[in-house]
Amino acid sequence: MNILIINAGSSSLKYQLMDPDTGVVSAKGLCERIGIDGRLNHSANGKKVVKDIPMPTHSEAITATLNILVDPVDGVIKSTDEIDAVGHRVLHGGMEFFASCIIDDAVIAAIEKCIPLGPLHNPANLMGIRACQAVMPTTPQVAVFDTAFHMTMPPKAYRYAIPTEYYKNDSIRRYGFHGTSHKYVTKRAIELMGTKDIKIVNCHLGNGSSLSAVKDGKCQDTSMGLTPLAGVPMGTRSGDLDAAVVQFIMNKYGMSADECLNMLNKKSGVLAVSGVSSDFRDIEENANAGNADCELALEKFAYEVRKYIGSYAAALGGLDVLVFTAGVGENSATMRARICQDLEYLGVKIDAEKNNTRGKEAIISADDSKVTVWVIPTNEELMIAQDTAELVKAAN
Ligand code: AMP
Repeated sequence: MNILIINAGSSSLKYQLMDPDTGVVSAKGLCERIGIDGRLNHSANGKKVVKDIPMPTHSEAITATLNILVDPVDGVIKSTDEIDAVGHRVLHGGMEFFASCIIDDAVIAAIEKCIPLGPLHNPANLMGIRACQAVMPTTPQVAVFDTAFHMTMPPKAYRYAIPTEYYKNDSIRRYGFHGTSHKYVTKRAIELMGTKDIKIVNCHLGNGSSLSAVKDGKCQDTSMGLTPLAGVPMGTRSGDLDAAVVQFIMNKYGMSADECLNMLNKKSGVLAVSGVSSDFRDIEENANAGNADCELALEKFAYEVRKYIGSYAAALGGLDVLVFTAGVGENSATMRARICQDLEYLGVKIDAEKNNTRGKEAIISADDSKVTVWVIPTNEELMIAQDTAELVKAAN
């Protein structure tokens, strides 16, 4: 089977052509500068191709993608008929979507309804969907939501302690993000442990970071909220914060709410604390060279992640498996060690030698650790491809 995975942003569109059974990616690429001029970056057959192609809208980007996929030299298929289905990454499913689904008019209308919750991403995701529908009208399209995995949270986890009208009238509640990644690593952890009957805390630690608490394969809580700003500090996002800080800064510096939120989303996090970079490799390098602010940024990040692990162990009533994934979680042995430091009371004991691993599935806990600690590289595209294939097969 060939599944085309599309992740449409406001001026970009990423794609992968994947076999959902093997996870093999035969081609992938990025259309960028959509609406400006247009450039296609394509990798297939061990070769990279860059082409300037006018892309006034997402339609031309999709057309360019399909053209290169069937190109006799740079392509990997003979005809677009070989694409069995398209899986679209959609940011916000609001309270409308609890799972991935085949796209029809009602689904499009419901994604539109979620635009106030995902004002930057959902319109772009819809442009990608509509562009695909226009050029491949008979190919099934599936929407996979970043929020869906977290929809099993109970009200005590997802409701905010603010007047009910904001929940009832405006759907303001915790949703959580990175759901496709949390779903993938949960699925793998269950497969690797050989049982669903486990309490898992997943740590997706990358440029954006979030944790999830999972019991019997179902999400019970997650650290991001109505938007991805909540939770642990991230590359450039502040994470959790006393809301009165916003009022204080707005009043003192004459900032609008949008300006203040922009500062919290783009100029905060480990970038702000380190004063050097949002990239954990740069921060680690500078901390090793003696930069105290970089050391504080790493310490703060590890501390906040550790606090979430502790609170989720309390929320789940125990902990069996701790999972590290995404750029930092998969690659930084020192950050994993920092986070797990002093978690022995919870039954988490890291083996320094086993922890010396990067980017592959591995147990990094000691043989006598009560909690099994895993590094599981995430694969959101594979999850999208598998969800898409499953839905399309079931519909036939
Ligand atoms: P992601 O958003 O999942 O792509 O993760 C990006 C983050 O992972 C960046 O901050 C990178 O610096 C970080 N990262 C990638 N490799 C390493 C590494 N070997 N050590 C520390 N951080 C890393």
